[in-house]
Amino acid sequence: MKNLLLKGLMHRPLTEAAPTDPGLETLGESLRNETRRALGRSLALRMVDAGSCNACELEIQATGNPYYDMDRFGLHFVASPRHADVLLVTGPVTRNMAIALSRTYESMPNPKWVVAAGDCAVDGGCFAGSYAVLGGVHKVLPVDVNIPGCPPTPEDLIKGLLTLMARAGTRR
Ligand code: SF4
Repeated sequence: MKNLLLKGLMHRPLTEAAPTDPGLETLGESLRNETRRALGRSLALRMVDAGSCNACELEIQATGNPYYDMDRFGLHFVASPRHADVLLVTGPVTRNMAIALSRTYESMPNPKWVVAAGDCAVDGGCFAGSYAVLGGVHKVLPVDVNIPGCPPTPEDLIKGLLTLMARAGTRR
């Protein structure tokens, strides 16, 4: 026990070092600036899992961890679609989730956008052709941005949202 305690005191914590990549800061700052230009405030996302394997969710969750910490750039997830600007959808849209997905979209106030995150959400991915799925978010909702990848990385997700906000800002 004593050795274990000493080991814990002597060794550095087994955590990932803070990011030194300036690209991540630049990306976050660009997202914050474009969002302010488009909306005049931070960006609220409602996420819906429409039948994913959950790997896409893990990457989406990572955007809020201490490494990426995208909350500091005004990106946050909300519990209700009534408070959301963006509907972020993962999964190939199972038949069982189609109505729930449509109702979530209908509950959102305007202006609103839809982002399909991951290959499954884009076109069904590895589940395409299954009798149980519709084969992508575009089969149910108007998709504004597709973010491919299986799963997409947090950087991919942030870049996709940046593209969306840049487009939204120019249409104001
Ligand atoms: S895109 Fe890949 S990681 Fe995402 S839900 Fe589909 S199979 Fe899973």
